[in-house]
Order: sequence, then C-alpha cells, then structure tokens
Amino acid sequence: MLKANDPSLHSWIQIAPNSDFPIQNLPFGIFETAGKDPRVGVAIGDYILDLYAVAQNNLFELIDIDPTVFHRPYLNDFISLGKPIWRAVRNRVSELLRNDNEEISSNRELMDDCLVRMQDARMLMPVKVGNYTDFYSSIEHATNVGTMFRDPKNALLPNWKHIPIGYHGRASSIVVSGVDIRRPNGQTKAPNEDAPTFGPTKLLDFELEVAFITGRETKLGESITPNEADNYIFGLVLFNDWSARDIQTWEYVPLGPFLAKSFASSISPWVVTLDALQPFKVKGPVQDPKPLPYLEFNGHHNYDINLEVLIKPEGGKENSVCRSNFKYMYWNMNQQLAHQSSNGCNIQVGDMYASGTISGHEKDSYGSMLELTWRGTQPIKLSDGTERKFINDEDTVIMRGYGERDGIRIGFGEVKAKVLPAL
Ligand code: MN
Repeated sequence: MLKANDPSLHSWIQIAPNSDFPIQNLPFGIFETAGKDPRVGVAIGDYILDLYAVAQNNLFELIDIDPTVFHRPYLNDFISLGKPIWRAVRNRVSELLRNDNEEISSNRELMDDCLVRMQDARMLMPVKVGNYTDFYSSIEHATNVGTMFRDPKNALLPNWKHIPIGYHGRASSIVVSGVDIRRPNGQTKAPNEDAPTFGPTKLLDFELEVAFITGRETKLGESITPNEADNYIFGLVLFNDWSARDIQTWEYVPLGPFLAKSFASSISPWVVTLDALQPFKVKGPVQDPKPLPYLEFNGHHNYDINLEVLIKPEGGKENSVCRSNFKYMYWNMNQQLAHQSSNGCNIQVGDMYASGTISGHEKDSYGSMLELTWRGTQPIKLSDGTERKFINDEDTVIMRGYGERDGIRIGFGEVKAKVLPAL
C-alpha cells in the first residue's frame, strides 16, 4: 500500500467525516482567488493547499522540481514531469498535512500563505485538453440503447464484445463545473416529417461518465498494453457528456456522433489520481468471449466508485434521479487506452478519455434521461410536482462520485452545470 493511502493517517486540518477530500485523497486542480492568479492546488477538507506557495517556501526541496511548474493555468506541465514526480509530490503533500508534521502547521504566516479556503477560490479547467475520446463501454447502456432503437433480441451489435467502441470527440468545448451550458441548435427531423428543420434541441440529455486523463505521451507508431496503461494514466474526473438526442438521431448515420455531442461536455475540477484510487480496485464483469490478446490484462482494473446524478430546477431542490457505479464498466480504462493506441495513434499529456454512459442493471441506475425515462415514455416526477422526460431550460444537472473503504471516503466533489435557453 502507498503510504499516502494509509487509512490511519490524519491531518492537522479539521476535516468533516463526509468530506470528499481527506488526507488520503489529495487531488490536483487549478484555482484562482482575488489575490492569486491561476496555479496548482491540492484539495484538503474545505481548503486548497497552494502548491506554488509550498514550492516557493522551499518545502519541496527534496524533489527535483522547478517551482514555477505550479504557477501555470493548467496541470499539463506538472503532469509531463512523470509518475515518479506526481507520486513524490503527493507523498510530500501528505507528509506536510499530517498531524505529526509541524513544518506548516506551526507557522501561522506560512499557513496563511499556503492555505486557501475553497469558498474563496474559483476552480478552473485542470488540464488543457488536446484530444478527447468518448468510449461506449457500459454493456447495460449499450444494451438499453440497442433495445430502444434497434432490436431487443439483438441489442448489442456483433462487434461490441470484441472491441471497445469509441469516437473522437471535440476537446475545445469541454468546460469545468459551474460553467452554464447553452441549449444547442441543430438539424432534426422527426419520423413523421418530410424534411428537416433547424432549431433548439427538444431532447437535451446528460450522460453520466468518468474520464481519465493521460500523463505520459507515446510516439506516433507506438502502442501501450493494458498492463502498462496504469503508468500512462494521471487521474480521473467526473464527466457529463451533454447530448442532444433528436440531433443525434438524424445526424449519426453513417459516421457516428457529431454536433449532438460537441456543443459541450462538463467536468469536475479536481483530478483524483490513480494512486488515490488504488484501494477501490475491483474485479470487472466477466468478458466472454475472451478479448483478443492485445486487450488481455492481469489484475483488476475496475474501480468501485459510487456515482449519482441530480436534477435541480431553478429555485427548487435537488432531485436524485440516478445511482450508478463505475465498477459496472465492461471494458476497463487499461483496455480502452490499449485499444486507442493499438493502431499507433500517439497519446499526449492532457488527453481526456471518457468512459461512455455508465448504467447499471437496475432502472434507477441508468446514466442518461434517454434510458431513465425510456425515450420519454416514462417521465420522472420531481419533488416540486413537475415531470422531466429530458432536461429543461434553467435546470441544473449535478453529478457526484466517491469511493468508500475502511472508513475513508475518496471523493470527486461534483460537476454541476445549468442549462440556459437556446439563442
Ligand atoms: Mn458519451
């Protein structure tokens, strides 16, 4: 076990038992405040540890690292330093925050310099995303969609259990939690209409996903095996892959998703490292038929992370509409990355790879409104008495996630975004 993951560790910072950010988590993000321009921080309880301030005060002196790498608007340069450095920095931060360490805790001035209250900070995009891939790796989701749109008897297409299906998405419209989303306009054609029209989507949906961020590049022509993939994954965020179902239905033949997906995707601001998630590794679903050799792996690469989606109407209460789990994924991240690179396509630092909608077996574990309301035929009733088939203007969609083991909760915080009316 990594020392920083030891459940017996405690911090000198008071942390609520239900906090997503105990000393065993230490996720990385980019923040700014009224007095501090964008920089790297680590979440701890209700606080952010300012890593640039920590570095300027020579508290990383045993790690060979340029302090200015923490004074950047994205994590990419820090991540590029490689896994031994991320791990060394996380270990050192863990040490500095432990209740038996006085290097910061005994010095009021240093504490004021290095700690920022989360409520005083604004979180920014953690990485500059160069490339974005969206997979389709939940067998429950793929089965639900196939049942609805094709044939319940042959819901999965013949390739699905052989190949981690995915497509290349749009990186420029990935935004951080808190950024409002504009209802997109697009071309649609209902089955009973003769010709398409252009206008606001009527079927705006969320997709509950988790995305991993790569932290090491490959050269063009190289590929990664599933067993090597852990060394290429920096960390994970929650990912809401906003979707316009009516636009998608009309445009996706024959090349797949395009503008129904590219108008926006929202992510949670804290990148939870793969290191922090090690205690949550679990066995994944049985893969039958056996995958081809380049997709075979040793060990466990699924993660037991509870996921929840909530809808909050303007001025109203949060309504939980979905509870799912990242462990349901049929194809794991290591296989996804192996598949992505299997043709020699180069991997870059800061790339984002989303899981695909994560649905479970139970009806309340479906990760999209499309499935939860079964194409709008079974609307969801909210606590204010209104119904939802899809997402309305002024609704806020919130996703939360955490793993819990040995009394330690490793959380992601949340990704939250409000939908504004179309222009
Ligand atoms: Mn998706």
